[in-house]
Amino acid sequence: MANYKDYMLFEKLPHTWCAGCGHGIILQAIADAFAMQGLDKHDIALVSGIGCFGRVDDYLDINCMHVTHGRALPAATGIALANPELHVLVTMGDGDGATIGGNHLIHCARRNINLTAVIANNYNYGQTGGQYSGTTPAGSITATSPYGHVEPGFDICKLAEAAGAPFVARTTPYNPMQIRNLIKRGMQTRGFALIEVMDTCPTHYGRLNKFGDAGPMLEKLNNMTVPVEKASSMSGEELEGRIVTGVLTDRPREDYYTRYKRIIDRLSTEKGSVPSA
Ligand code: SF4
Repeated sequence: MANYKDYMLFEKLPHTWCAGCGHGIILQAIADAFAMQGLDKHDIALVSGIGCFGRVDDYLDINCMHVTHGRALPAATGIALANPELHVLVTMGDGDGATIGGNHLIHCARRNINLTAVIANNYNYGQTGGQYSGTTPAGSITATSPYGHVEPGFDICKLAEAAGAPFVARTTPYNPMQIRNLIKRGMQTRGFALIEVMDTCPTHYGRLNKFGDAGPMLEKLNNMTVPVEKASSMSGEELEGRIVTGVLTDRPREDYYTRYKRIIDRLSTEKGSVPSA
């Protein structure tokens, strides 16, 4: 039986993340999700973008590609379409995946590319010093909003749902088993799956917004969560400031590659329909 350790590069440890950062928990959950499915490591590809969380590929013994800021999803799209049998994961932070690369997120969901995107949302660009991102809540103190952030942050899951993603889920590092299980379900969805992990950055966002250090920050984050089953009977006012967790959307629909291949197959059986090279 496979173990998460089979997918790790332990010789690369210790990692470069700050003490108490939530990224290490997500890293182990990713490796655990591979082990639960007993995947051959050659059948997995991981594409990561720039940012603290983008460093997960340093510690995994699988096919990995580290690309430019905000462009992990288009690079992963190419891999998924060139080799539709691969399990392609994309690991990004909120700055990389939902701000600089936000447009790619919308279109991957709309096209329904067969990818599993894991976005660690800690409300800031941690690697470059804690600047605000597109998900930073209004009023937050960050390196670029020292008097309180003016803009409202947006909801990554609602964005992906509205764009057509068939599987959307959310969790936190307080619950590593849920991260693991949701990544596994995302990988088993044929099409675009998004797992948002509301993450902790005790060094920047947590410190500036008085969450306390790593332990209390994780505890506070967990106290803000409400399972989706319970949330369905709560009013909008009651849900204000809460983080809804669990499977938010599960509505399978045909993925891009399958639709594309069907057209190619149809044209190749219709004599003379496909122009010769
Ligand atoms: S800066 Fe924040 S996100 Fe980056 S490693 Fe440190 S705690 Fe984690």
